[in-house]
Amino acid sequence: MISKLYIVATPIGNLGDVTLRAIETLKNVDLILCEDTRQTKKLLDKYGIKKELLSYHSHSKLSKVEKIFELLEEGKDLALVSDAGTPGISDPGTVLVSKVISRVSLDVKVIPIPGPTALIAALSASGLPTHEFTYLGFLPHKKGREKIFKEITSAKRTIVFYESPHRILKTLESLQKFVPDKKVCLARELTKIYEEFKTGTAAELLEYLKQNPEKQRGEFVVIVA
Ligand code: SAM
Repeated sequence: MISKLYIVATPIGNLGDVTLRAIETLKNVDLILCEDTRQTKKLLDKYGIKKELLSYHSHSKLSKVEKIFELLEEGKDLALVSDAGTPGISDPGTVLVSKVISRVSLDVKVIPIPGPTALIAALSASGLPTHEFTYLGFLPHKKGREKIFKEITSAKRTIVFYESPHRILKTLESLQKFVPDKKVCLARELTKIYEEFKTGTAAELLEYLKQNPEKQRGEFVVIVA
């Protein structure tokens, strides 16, 4: 019996950003694999979905993966969601999907249910060139970080990456050093109450965040033209 693993995109903030197909899928599967059950429950409660949840994250033990394999072998249909956006885009989804696909004994159809992802939402409203872009995920914290900024110096395409609020000032300082003249867009808290797009040189954005410390909080997508 072929079982199905649905890769379901969920909102990146605003719980209204979920597709009809995503809701139907979450209602119909046997079990939902998620990162943080509390986070996923907020979405399920909003849409009146009662479903068994099994947490899966980057530190999950091998036994958890084996358990997921067993469920699929039994013919169960599963949905994989992450805390926000599209599973597999800078979150643990990638590893699971790759393990399921490479497990030859499994007869599983992997089906994407597309929806929000922060980098695309950010690009779409940034006003910066989007016909070609390179997505870097999260930048390395130490080793390889300087090399990445050097590569951005000579980049021919728009660069997009994710950044945490703890490192945003440090990252802007590096951009100021390596690409002082390039346009940078900070897309913060997308689809949420304090959503904001701010574009300028890295120096201008640094100044702006230092003057307004509350704007250093939240989730960021950084785009370099
Ligand atoms: N899977 C997600 C996606 O499809 O975008 C990304 C997950 S990754 C673990 C989390 C990072 O995505 C955050 O640190 C932030 O950089 C970015 N992100 C997620 N939601 C966001 C939002 N509402 N506004 C801005 N950035 C967001």
